[in-house]
Amino acid sequence: MKQLRAVHKYFWKYRNRFFIGIFFVVSSNYFAVLAPQITGYVVNEVRLHLPGARPALTNPPHDLLVGWFISWVQRMQVSFGWLIALCSITILLLAVMRGILMFFMRQTIIVMSRHIEYDQKNEIYQHYQRLDTNFYKTHSTGDLMNRMTEDVSRVRMYTGPALMYFVNLIALIGFCVYNMLRKDVHLTLLVLAPLPILAITIYVVNSVINKKSEKIQALLSDLTTNAQESFSGIRVIKSFVQEKAMLGFFKKNSQAYKQNAVGLARIEAIYFPSMALMIGISTLLTIWVGGMQALQDTSKVGTIVEFVIYINMLTFPVSAIGWTASMIQRAAASQKRINEFLRTEPTIVNEHKPLKPVIEGDILFENVSFTYPHTGIKALQHFNLRIKQGEKILLLGRTGSGKSTIAQLLLRFYDPSSGRISIGGHDLRQIELHTLREQVSYVQQDVFLFSDTVADNISFGLAGAATRERIEAAAGFASVRKEIEGFNHGFATMVGERGVTLSGGQKQRIAIARGLIKDPHIIIFDDCLSAVDAKTENEIIGNLYRYLHDKTALVITHRIFSSFRFDNIIVLDNGELAEQGTHEELMLNNGYYAELYRLQLTEEKSGRPGSSATGANAVSS
Ligand code: ADP
Ligand code: MG
Repeated sequence: MKQLRAVHKYFWKYRNRFFIGIFFVVSSNYFAVLAPQITGYVVNEVRLHLPGARPALTNPPHDLLVGWFISWVQRMQVSFGWLIALCSITILLLAVMRGILMFFMRQTIIVMSRHIEYDQKNEIYQHYQRLDTNFYKTHSTGDLMNRMTEDVSRVRMYTGPALMYFVNLIALIGFCVYNMLRKDVHLTLLVLAPLPILAITIYVVNSVINKKSEKIQALLSDLTTNAQESFSGIRVIKSFVQEKAMLGFFKKNSQAYKQNAVGLARIEAIYFPSMALMIGISTLLTIWVGGMQALQDTSKVGTIVEFVIYINMLTFPVSAIGWTASMIQRAAASQKRINEFLRTEPTIVNEHKPLKPVIEGDILFENVSFTYPHTGIKALQHFNLRIKQGEKILLLGRTGSGKSTIAQLLLRFYDPSSGRISIGGHDLRQIELHTLREQVSYVQQDVFLFSDTVADNISFGLAGAATRERIEAAAGFASVRKEIEGFNHGFATMVGERGVTLSGGQKQRIAIARGLIKDPHIIIFDDCLSAVDAKTENEIIGNLYRYLHDKTALVITHRIFSSFRFDNIIVLDNGELAEQGTHEELMLNNGYYAELYRLQLTEEKSGRPGSSATGANAVSS
């Protein structure tokens, strides 16, 4: 329950709807309990018209409105037939009245809960976006999604239906019991006795049902994930002829789901009969005990009818007690999960008064070490490097040597565990994150494109503010323009599931175009030509040569682009700087670089025409 306090600020935000809604709930119930009283009155009038009827010993007390109505009917001195007709019409009008109020009750409270749901989803989404890379590494997307959808809708059950039913049941039980007590205290206590048992039974049954449904939900999600994965990997399944095994696996999961669902159906089957039983017992008690009393005092006949109607009216609210309670419990559990994430604060944040400089000047790594927090992997150790403004740097190294880590540290996806990184003399931690990331382009190793048009993907960083010329020029630099223009819809072609399936190389080049269009001062290419053929690779490198003339560039790769003259080549090994220098220096050094270079040359000679390692003459030019 404590957890749910987090949504109470929203009740305050929508306080008008909240209070008006409660007013509607209470008043609709007030009108609901008037009808049984009129029915009771009619029954007594009918009884008086029966042959041999004795006048009543007492006159049962009535509600203010009902009392007023009865005295009005009596003053009219209408015939018996008319009296019945007037009462019937009034009962009908009361029902209509109640219906209208219930309409407004839903319109206020349920609509309020939808507003709260909307606000809450936005709040969570916004918070998610603030969280840093490490958070996303340690939590699954499915979990994030669930908390934003499933859990939010459970909390909505609290701010909407549960609230409404709770106020409703309090009001209705209050009005009914008040009216019953006024008529007959003894009979009331007797007939109400079974109802708490009903409420408790329903609560228990409901809790079991919820637990079971949760299990079923989890099984279902397993089943869906299982099926989804097999459809994504259908080619692997087919080529390894594993259809039968996969079907067996699916059947097993499906079987578990079925068993639980059948179990749930069994419990649900007890639900309504047990409710009917309790109500039946109450009704029986009313008629039995009330009947005995009516033998003494015939005016009780109307009361018995009235009581039977109340008992039946109470069925729903009493069963709603258990139901509402378990709904609130579930909402609290969900809100707890939501709060867990909402209270997670990003570790990468702006300083109190962050700087907003133009990102230029030398990039300096001073004794930088970095360990990935959740795995303890030491990705960088005592790394020192100065990249002068406008320099083009080639960063080489085996997979896992820490190249991408350097890129991520430069964009401040993580902060170094020790040491310092600065640009133009400003420590990265002093620079406002937005300023930094806006001016540094990072073309990532794993290309991700949105299910959107090619044009929108390229202009993503400019939030749609890019002109057509700029988009085309960027695509041109990335050597992908001709291919895009060859698509059926050109730059308006949809990418991904709803559109064309791009090759790995096309995706990489679109991602490069997306990085170039920002026109940044610093640009990092992280192994983003790996899926591009050698000829295109050369073409892009050539284009970049022109494009990059005044920019600082860090090109991360596992191949040597010898057609391009880098100011400095850095070789990383196991998180440490292994070699550094120009092509000639490194060749003389005869280390990893020289070895890789010679390997590439042999490859080229053995028939990889147009390979990027275009020979020493290109380098020394
Ligand atoms: P490279 O880009 O040179 O292939 P990385 O910088 O990606 O290397 O990785 C360096 C080391 O850090 C590797 O051992 C890798 O397994 C580890 N690593 C990379 N990313 C993460 C991460 N997000 N969480 C934990 N460890 C990581
Ligand atoms: Mg990498």
